[in-house]
Amino acid sequence: MSDLPLLRFLRQCHGEFSQNSTGALADYIPELTKADPAHFGICVATVDGYVHEMGDSRVPFTIQSISKAFVFAMALETIGAEKVETTIGVEPSGEAFNSIRLNGTNRPFNPMVNAGAIACTGLFCESGGDDAFERILQGLSRFAGRPLDYDRAVFESERATGDRNRAIAYLLRTHGVLRCEVDTALAVYFRQCAVQVTARDLSIMAATLANNGVNPMTGETVLSPYVVARTLSVMLSSGMYDYAGEWGYRVGIPAKSGVGGGIVATLPAQLGLGIYSPLLNGHGHSVRGVQTCEALSSHFDLHLLNRVADVRTCVAAACDLGGVSSRRNRQPAEQAILDAHQTSCVVLELVGAIGFGDMEYISRRLIESQSRATHAIVDFRRVSAISKAAARLLGDSLDGIAAADLTVTLCGTAHLAGLSAAVDSWLGRVPRLRKAARLDEAIEWVEDQIIYLDGGYDRLHEQITLGEQSLLEGLSAADTETLAAMSDRRHFEPGERIIAANEVARSILFISRGMVSVKLPSGVRLATLVAGMTVGEMALLETHRSADVWADTRVDCLELPLDAYARFRASHPQASERIVLNLAALLSRKLIVANRKIDALTSS
Ligand code: GLU
Repeated sequence: MSDLPLLRFLRQCHGEFSQNSTGALADYIPELTKADPAHFGICVATVDGYVHEMGDSRVPFTIQSISKAFVFAMALETIGAEKVETTIGVEPSGEAFNSIRLNGTNRPFNPMVNAGAIACTGLFCESGGDDAFERILQGLSRFAGRPLDYDRAVFESERATGDRNRAIAYLLRTHGVLRCEVDTALAVYFRQCAVQVTARDLSIMAATLANNGVNPMTGETVLSPYVVARTLSVMLSSGMYDYAGEWGYRVGIPAKSGVGGGIVATLPAQLGLGIYSPLLNGHGHSVRGVQTCEALSSHFDLHLLNRVADVRTCVAAACDLGGVSSRRNRQPAEQAILDAHQTSCVVLELVGAIGFGDMEYISRRLIESQSRATHAIVDFRRVSAISKAAARLLGDSLDGIAAADLTVTLCGTAHLAGLSAAVDSWLGRVPRLRKAARLDEAIEWVEDQIIYLDGGYDRLHEQITLGEQSLLEGLSAADTETLAAMSDRRHFEPGERIIAANEVARSILFISRGMVSVKLPSGVRLATLVAGMTVGEMALLETHRSADVWADTRVDCLELPLDAYARFRASHPQASERIVLNLAALLSRKLIVANRKIDALTSS
């Protein structure tokens, strides 16, 4: 693969910042001084599971405080928001990571400083007993998408020297925030800080947060969206300790650093960043890590609050029945009714991930359509995700729309977990709401309503003579009689296959009664045809059948063998020329409809 621009930029950062040897290794945990100050790895993982790797991306180091963000997330998810939120605050402390101070209510300021993190680990000890560390390790491994382990030497080194954390833990215990033994909680906390990761692991862990809690490599759902949003919010306000305000202003990406030299950063819905370089600045953050984040953010303008989005792009196509029709071909009288009522139905085909702003726009378009249309169809088939807020807003708008004379059909929602159950609940409440599996089905239903309300009627069960066939329009009665005499009468029961794809084409069939559907072998419907229409007429141009044709109802046909037609052509050159012209006209009409559809899809 040619060099990707992001990787090129990472290489540039790596080359430039590795020249910077300022900063110092953390030495309050003696074992950390053994790190190689030259090591420098940068990884960016995308939400579709691609990892850009630069430098020492696979060198292991201890996660240290970066664990705090993920253990807090796991606590919210598994111990419960209420318990966690009443034990630990979410206010920035403006102090260093190891400050021995609690807030006004004697609780830790937030889960990113040591006091909050030790309290959070304490919650696992309280609820998990001896298994607390195992649960934490397994949880961290799910974020990384591989089994992690911890560095025994770093653990022992911190346990031997971690008196400051002991002081914090005793303070927490004095105020009843830590309810297990200090040594028990710290044995888990020090192990959790000693878990070994690489820059690559960190980028995947961050990308799991960016991907709404779903690990993009394994597909596993690790967190719920509620927890992701809360975790990122404390990372942004407190993840970089007493540098957090500056970080939010300059870099604007929720992040967490560790004294092992790692930095993790998450840009929601876009990417996860993992960096390793063990030389630290005075705030305890990796010097080169901070430089890389600042450079990335400013070069690509990645600040979280700097968003480019245009809600209008969520409507991939907007048209009425002039721009889109069902695959059911209509008899001329029916088509005339539909042509006269083109604007009665608005069709909105949505695309992408739909958030609150998108749905606000969509619901406004629906409400606007009430003045001219009696039907609206909203197709969600190409929507990849819908937020809770957007689903709620849709439900609320439907309540208003139901009061007006607009029937709304929502289709293709089954794959959207957040929406399909909600649609079912609205169906019982909103009178003019319908759902359909597919857009084609929804359009066909609306067309039927329009046709029959306007006096159109169903000629499905009438016998239609050869003279009424569109392909034979303009032929004399004598000519159609000749063709009728050359044809065989055929009858099919519902569900019977009339034509099979890939067979040699040997005849043309004129439907005189009933309805048939042309389908691909996959079952996808290409067209539905009724009495007065022809199937297999492409045999005049092609040697093989291109699709299956099935009887939907009881069907009567006249089948004209191609060899008989060849004789007719020799003896009736003028009539044959007319048939070819009719065929060209039918094909040209199909092309016009197809072009309109393509235009509606590409120029909305
Ligand atoms: N284990 C370290 C401590 O609690 C983590 C500190 C950090 O990474 O900021 O002191």
